[in-house]
Amino acid sequence: MRKTCRDFYFNILGRGFDSRHLHHYKKKYKGDIMKKELQEKLFKKYPKIFRQRTLPMTETCMCWGIDTGDGWYNLIETLCILLQWDIDNNEHKQIEATQVKEKYGTLRFYTDYNDDKQSGYIDFAEALSANICEECGSNKDVTQSNGAWISTRCSECMKKIKKF
Ligand SMILES: [Zn+2]
Repeated sequence: MRKTCRDFYFNILGRGFDSRHLHHYKKKYKGDIMKKELQEKLFKKYPKIFRQRTLPMTETCMCWGIDTGDGWYNLIETLCILLQWDIDNNEHKQIEATQVKEKYGTLRFYTDYNDDKQSGYIDFAEALSANICEECGSNKDVTQSNGAWISTRCSECMKKIKKF
């Protein structure tokens, strides 16, 4: 389903935050967002899935980049491998990511379109993210934090999250 960036933008404003401060805010309370070089690696390997990354925010939320921690890189890459392989080999329609982010502690991978099989891959990846540390990728002692921002972290990374 298509989500507009305007909703996202107004949400931030509604909470008293300017969009320019969003990344500083998230970094402070939730940890770092995915490193630019890792994001670029995904964009280079799967240019068709991430075609919307260069579009303006009036057209897509993909302009924000991959809005998760580094720890979910492998999960997102595995999902892209499956999706693109199926598109190229089994005559599925090319899908494009419209927003990739963390919400309520788990991965959200929104696309412009998906059929049942593609939707199944995405649901599976989103469900797996609940047991993978968003910060370091470990699946050891992973839990969700309580509080205003729910975060999925291993016990070591959980210690580093600053309290709201
Ligand atoms: Zn961790």
